[in-house]
Amino acid sequence: MNDVARPTYFIKVFGCQMNKFDASEFERFFTERGLVPAPAPEQADVVHVLTCCVRQKAEDKFFSLLGALRKHKLSGGVKVIGVSGCIPELRDVGGDHAFVDYVIGSGAPEKYYDQIEAALIKNLDMKTGAEPVALHMPQSGISEFVTVMRGCTNYCTYCVVPAVRGPEQSRSVTAIRADARRRLQAGAKEIILLGQNALAYGMDLTRPATLLDALSAVHDLPGLRRVRFVTSHPAWVTEEFLHGLKFLPLVCAYFHIPFQAGDNETLKRMNRKYTVEEYIEKIAMIRRLFPEAGISADVIVGFPGETDAQFQGTVRLMKRVVVNQAYMFKYSPRPGTPAERWGDDVPQKTKEERLAVLIDTQREISLRLNRAQIESTMEVMVDTADHMEPGRYKGRTRCNRVADFTSTKKHNPGDIVSVLIDKATPHALIGRLSTRHKRSLL
Ligand code: SF4
Repeated sequence: MNDVARPTYFIKVFGCQMNKFDASEFERFFTERGLVPAPAPEQADVVHVLTCCVRQKAEDKFFSLLGALRKHKLSGGVKVIGVSGCIPELRDVGGDHAFVDYVIGSGAPEKYYDQIEAALIKNLDMKTGAEPVALHMPQSGISEFVTVMRGCTNYCTYCVVPAVRGPEQSRSVTAIRADARRRLQAGAKEIILLGQNALAYGMDLTRPATLLDALSAVHDLPGLRRVRFVTSHPAWVTEEFLHGLKFLPLVCAYFHIPFQAGDNETLKRMNRKYTVEEYIEKIAMIRRLFPEAGISADVIVGFPGETDAQFQGTVRLMKRVVVNQAYMFKYSPRPGTPAERWGDDVPQKTKEERLAVLIDTQREISLRLNRAQIESTMEVMVDTADHMEPGRYKGRTRCNRVADFTSTKKHNPGDIVSVLIDKATPHALIGRLSTRHKRSLL
């Protein structure tokens, strides 16, 4: 059977890393049933959409995609449309859109395989293409996510995750190790342990475990070169955890620690469970123990009631903690959250102005921090080769900076090389292959 005769699938992902992880599971599911990936939704027999309702923009984009898919289906294109993720947990997607063939929630993908299978059998001539075993596993990415837990029990007042994904439910250490092993055997070199509140991993298990246990469980697996974890809620960062990381050399010194706002009253209304001073102390603690760590953060502007003075507190905090990268968002009310009831009272224009100030501030900080690396040699894991420009490669440092470098040698994704940094932009380091080997913490 050649690929041309097989049904094709396309997966569209909105939102967070958790959805990206689930997408890789659905990809495996489709491939194991003999479907092959299509380059675009309009060329696919099956389109599966992973939705996100964390921000209004992602929700709007989903509904506009759904409209386009409906037209494709009516004109005889796509045969199966499936929807999963957060939006179906909040709204009746299936009832309102009869052309959608299956609507599933945000739980572990394997819970829904029977439902998807039924839709494939009903709508596709499975005999022409599907074979029940993996004909070729999807080529593994070099960096693969392994989910350690689902849900969140922090109940930040602006966030829908606890409502749509439920309270924290950790996987066992054994399941995490087995999942990581499978991904490494398929070619991955880096494992990223994933949880909305990863530092709380294991507290809900009958035999409690910690994220250090999960990291240790994957650390000795054959083929592993790097391990990372996301996301770290500031309230859960402890000295004990950071000391524990010292014994796990493959764990990269990179921390994604959202601060969201730089004003104590706003943080309290967000139910973030830390103060500005505590956040500053947590970052200082990380830098004391890992002086070359990479740090990134999430920030929200225009939370209900945010005054200009409170926003200035956020700018001050940004300048004070100088993180390498920040993901900055305008607040948008999410259905069913406490903050939604307080009204979206900061005008759009003000939100946009505040966001622009933050973006400029962070750009300056990122550029300064990246420029400080010029003339240093950094350890880079190769991610991709530039096919348009032979000899140019892209990769990441241990502290998660993007590194763009040239080399006269041939490198494969997953290779670890030393790169001498010549230039910097706010978003990347630019350099060339160095013959000097550096076992840098970066
Ligand atoms: S920590 Fe807060 S923002 Fe993050 S997922 Fe949990 S409730 Fe949402």
